[in-house]
Amino acid sequence: MTGKEEQFISEAFDTNWIAPVGPHIEGFEKEMALYLKAPGTVALSSGTAAIHLALDILGVTKGDVVFCSTLTFVASANPILYQEAEPVFIDSDPISWNMSPQALKRAFVQAEKDKKLPKAVIIVHLYGQSARMEELMEICKSYQVPVIEDAAESLGAGYKGIPTGTIGDFGIYSFNGNKMITTAGGGMLTAKKKSHLEKAKFLAQQAKDQADYYQHSVKGYNYRMSNILAGIGRAQLLALDERVEQKRFIYKRYEEALSTKGIEFMPEYEGSYSCRWLTVCTLPMDNNPQDVINNLQSHNIEARRVWKPLHLQPLFQNHNFYAHIPGNSTAEMLFDRGICLPSGTSLSGEEHRFVIETVKASLYEKSAQGAILSNL
Ligand SMILES: *Cc1c(COP(=O)(O)O)cnc(C)c1O
Repeated sequence: MTGKEEQFISEAFDTNWIAPVGPHIEGFEKEMALYLKAPGTVALSSGTAAIHLALDILGVTKGDVVFCSTLTFVASANPILYQEAEPVFIDSDPISWNMSPQALKRAFVQAEKDKKLPKAVIIVHLYGQSARMEELMEICKSYQVPVIEDAAESLGAGYKGIPTGTIGDFGIYSFNGNKMITTAGGGMLTAKKKSHLEKAKFLAQQAKDQADYYQHSVKGYNYRMSNILAGIGRAQLLALDERVEQKRFIYKRYEEALSTKGIEFMPEYEGSYSCRWLTVCTLPMDNNPQDVINNLQSHNIEARRVWKPLHLQPLFQNHNFYAHIPGNSTAEMLFDRGICLPSGTSLSGEEHRFVIETVKASLYEKSAQGAILSNL
């Protein structure tokens, strides 16, 4: 929290706007649109809801195919299942850790052969870094397939100066408790077309027709954000740029201290400006991420595995997957070797040094005598 949230919440109470309508919602939407240099935004109850609405608006229904990044949180793909559509997963590439343009291209070539192009492509900007949008957009445009950018983890990040989430047809953001900024829970949708934004607002409020009574012609949802939470979002947004600076500083300190140890950090490739939501790295060969995480846990330090790729999830068995190089998946390698280090902006300098020393002490080091575990 930044300290300014209570002011906005009090204002909501004082003016009696305790509802999924009210001035903070409009204010938050306008301020986000301004920040993103986007035509507009719609404040919603979650990032997952935003993906669901984008798919609904694009007319994704039963039996349709949707391409989706495989290395991501399950929320990126769950809405595909809500629509009873079929996800096809696309691998990461080693440069961006995000969707591999060459795997996407192969998936499209096959889809064209099968005479079943996807209805949409969901491109995730993982851990705060933009995917290779120029190449990915060119491929999607050549097949005239719309793009939904999942920027849940990358608010504050950009590609060649353009904020993630504003390059494709739709972009979604999350304000869950652990994201770049939070409203406790919430999300936002942006879109290139004003008509899409209007449709999203309509669907998010039970799709009520313009009539003097409650009339409904299409299926709607209860997906609007509340005015109180939007107030929290407005205060949080004021601190976003500073938070990106802090996150990037945290990353840099880890990198400087640990990259000599054979640890490789998520690269920031040319053109990308990462918000470094989490500092993520791969461990040297012979190190099992779970052993390192367990050792950190024994020192009361919480670290996490990299997302388990969706094509490996029991939930998504029997769905197609296109690897970066056939038979050689980058996402699987990152899952096998990666860990997410503590990246909270409340981490003090002293705590940070302790984490770094504990990570060092948790690594197996190859020596002439073989592998030894150095102890703290
Ligand atoms: C958090 C997250 C979401 C979902 O956002 P919610 O607001 O929690 O619904 C979607 N995609 C990714 C990549 C996320 O990290």
